Amino acid sequence: MASSSFQAPRGTSDILPEDQPYWSYVWGTAASVAASFGYERIDTPIFEETALFSRGVGEETEVVEKQMYSFDDLGGDSITLKPDGTAPVCRAYIQRGMHNQPQPVRLFYQGPYFRYERPQAGRFRQFHQFGVEAIGDASAQVDAEVIELGWSWLASLGLTGLSLSINSIGDGVCRPGHLAKLVEYFSEREDGLCSDHKGRYRSNPLRVLDCKKAPCVSVSGGAPRSVDDLCDDCSDHWDELRRTLDLLVGEGALSGYEENARLVRGLDYYNRTVFEYEPAERKGQSTIGGGGRYDPLIEILGGPPTPGIGFAIGMERVLLNLKAQGVSVPGGPVIDIVCVHIGDAAHDRMLALASGLRATGRTVIVAPMGRGMRSQMRYANSKGARYALILGERDLENGVATLRSLKTDDDQTEVSLDPAVIAEASR
Ligand SMILES: [Zn+2]
Ligand SMILES: [Zn+2]
Repeated sequence: MASSSFQAPRGTSDILPEDQPYWSYVWGTAASVAASFGYERIDTPIFEETALFSRGVGEETEVVEKQMYSFDDLGGDSITLKPDGTAPVCRAYIQRGMHNQPQPVRLFYQGPYFRYERPQAGRFRQFHQFGVEAIGDASAQVDAEVIELGWSWLASLGLTGLSLSINSIGDGVCRPGHLAKLVEYFSEREDGLCSDHKGRYRSNPLRVLDCKKAPCVSVSGGAPRSVDDLCDDCSDHWDELRRTLDLLVGEGALSGYEENARLVRGLDYYNRTVFEYEPAERKGQSTIGGGGRYDPLIEILGGPPTPGIGFAIGMERVLLNLKAQGVSVPGGPVIDIVCVHIGDAAHDRMLALASGLRATGRTVIVAPMGRGMRSQMRYANSKGARYALILGERDLENGVATLRSLKTDDDQTEVSLDPAVIAEASR
């Protein structure tokens, strides 16, 4: 290949026609499962004011420090391609006065997100997520509902062997005491931490719990657990969450869950409930998606104090797992009829017939011009068409065409040049 030819930017991909059935299937299932829980679709812009993310995701997070696609537009405003779905949805909630609607407001979204990361299996710089947010209700029942929704979607896609991890990381009342305990614990074991976190655990010790490197995993195994340091309110919330999840497990809506004291999630705005869905095979990426409660976020973004919870699940990771598990998806569009024409007059008549047939709901392609009949028939077969509609010069004089089945040998009928008749004959 010539060195001057263009390539898609690193970390992006083309979703080719042969992959579209997978995408239609996962998007379509996401929308119908979300709707069945009463969630309504919202779309926010691809880019937002940069400050929305630096404030709403957290200045000291890896996302804001290292991964954002930010630039000054021609008017001099700093713009960022959205790295995350929650902050834009919360911005819309505030800006559009959704606190005046019945609470919680239940929303879902799907689309592309952008992070400058090192590409690997299931990780892209332009990636796609399905996410939901339930805003305006602090009760643990809503947490359980959101967790169940994500689970239902993944299960209804046909994925098996999934697992669910949950944790409570406390709130502004109990977390400072817990973080102090963690810092003390790590300071006594600093030599055992990975090179990234030695000397750097003080500002955010939760990052050590989130670290996937062996030294940090081993040291944090014995670290103080946030669930042991919860204040009374957080403790009640945690108990109520587990009671509700147990109920769902009993009804078969969830297959079970694990409590994971190391689960903290990477973004600063989470409080109380955090959760993750893990695939059967943890190749490349350990999680398929997750989320948590973000009660402080709307106030941080300038709105009235409003609790919220949501999740985001990575489409590429879901697709990776669907393919690995050999889940079959409904196929793409089928071509019903390829119009084969001999002579210019027949071609022109075919254009009108094809329009009429499409109006009846048939999928129709007119074979390329300037080819003989044999070549047009090969074309029809290569498109996997169900029928060829053949119109020659003499047929045109007689007002008839031949409809030949390409799926059954020697099965052909003469039809009049009437779209309704042809549509009926090609059922
Ligand atoms: Zn580490
Ligand atoms: Zn608390």
